[in-house]
Amino acid sequence: MPVGSSRNPLRVAIIGSGPSGFYAAEHVLSQDDLHVQVDMFDRLPTPFGLVRAGVAPDHPKIKSVTRVYDKIAANPDFRFRGNVEFGADIEHEDLLEYFHAVIYCVGARSDRRLGIPREYLPGSHGASDFVGWYNASPDQRNLTFDFSGERVVVVGNGNVAMDVARVLMLPPDELAATDIGGHALRALSANQVREVTILGRRGPAQAAFTYRELRELAERDDIDVIVDPADMQLDPHSLHDTEQQPDRGRDQVLELLRELSERGDRGHDRRIVFRFLVSPVEIVGKDRVEGIEVVRNELYRGNNGELRARATDDHEVIPADIVFRAIGYQGVSLPGVPFDPITATIPNDRGRVIDPLTGQSRVGEYAAGWIKRGPNGIIGTNKPDAQESVEMLVDDVRAQRLRRDVLPAKVFERFLAERQGEVVSFADWKYLDEREVEKGGELGRPRLKFARVENMMRALREREKLDG
Ligand code: NAP
Repeated sequence: MPVGSSRNPLRVAIIGSGPSGFYAAEHVLSQDDLHVQVDMFDRLPTPFGLVRAGVAPDHPKIKSVTRVYDKIAANPDFRFRGNVEFGADIEHEDLLEYFHAVIYCVGARSDRRLGIPREYLPGSHGASDFVGWYNASPDQRNLTFDFSGERVVVVGNGNVAMDVARVLMLPPDELAATDIGGHALRALSANQVREVTILGRRGPAQAAFTYRELRELAERDDIDVIVDPADMQLDPHSLHDTEQQPDRGRDQVLELLRELSERGDRGHDRRIVFRFLVSPVEIVGKDRVEGIEVVRNELYRGNNGELRARATDDHEVIPADIVFRAIGYQGVSLPGVPFDPITATIPNDRGRVIDPLTGQSRVGEYAAGWIKRGPNGIIGTNKPDAQESVEMLVDDVRAQRLRRDVLPAKVFERFLAERQGEVVSFADWKYLDEREVEKGGELGRPRLKFARVENMMRALREREKLDG
């Protein structure tokens, strides 16, 4: 029976339930000529990956993309299986026995390393830990951050750095109007932070943050945004590029930074300071962070034409009580799955997983999203990315390159139940979702997130008791 026929439906396992996973599910389920069944696995009981655990709480519009994912999940051929960890509850080999195809959509859940002395001194945190913590991700629930100091330094010039700086600056009533974790709301409401310094290793023309995020800070009338006018005197390389290579986003950022440099200090008691052309050299402090030593950089043109930073001899120490390292996420390897430690991605050709030993694609294995292309782009970038991987999969189905026989779905149900007695379905998640909104409503908040897996599972068990 050919794979994808009504008697032998194409069985697809998707590992990870973030945007790339949902877009992959949507595209494979939309193949009119194929019978498809999708099982989506997540290590957490809750779906949506970084839409739930990464997008800043004060950006509810961005989060509303989950309505699209809800529709995908409503397809009768889609199954969500939360609380199932790849590599622990189910292994790579198991999936190959039960599914014709596996799509790895696990994102990039670690932080890139700076590689400087005392990088992990108490008080120096990866931004992904802070972001997960304020978004009530169970992975970070037990972390603690000491906000009793006034000075924070954020290393990195991307949108995560902007999120971190903004969340640290938001007044308690604004935080309470978001779905920020209850523990984070309590801790941040009492924070003493007065100054957040954001460090870019290159210049303002190379900043990775976007105009919208910068404007959000600039428009606030309760904080100062400080840009040194000297930083807005671009170096000859940057000047050349801004003149020769049109880029509307970059130019909007530059214009706004220039306005901010002219606006200067308005005397607010909280401020965000942008510093450009500086790289961290080491974290300063004995038992905990006391500052960060930086070196001034100059720009030079690399072989590929890109402007790169090069250290000068000019060093200084910026005092800091906390340092957040927001220099990009990093993918983590999955047991049994090829991994390129240099790019921290799964080696692949347009989504087909490549076995590094043979250079050949692995039958029925695909990757999509950040673990495929690296941690860049916005949520929507994952749609064409996932579609490309699914196109490869569909090509392989049509060319009959996939394993034809896999063990029946019913046998998989039994196998999974033996491995994990408490698999969370999408209906279970919807129940948790309603409880969160209900609990939030009691406090006058849009949602109060479950931050611990055991609490989610308890809520589900109690519902079962109620249901009799
Ligand atoms: P990112 O956009 O890649 O920015 C990383 C920043 O870290 C860059 O400025 C980079 O500088 C800098 N950096 C890297 N290595 C460094 C080092 N060793 N020393 C000093 N600086 C270093 O990453 P991100 O901020 O984590 O964001 C990830 C993705 O999610 C991005 O595509 C971002 O736009 C997206 N995102 C979007 C939103 C939103 O839409 N609101 C919010 C959050 C995240 P160089 O440029 O010099 O390499």
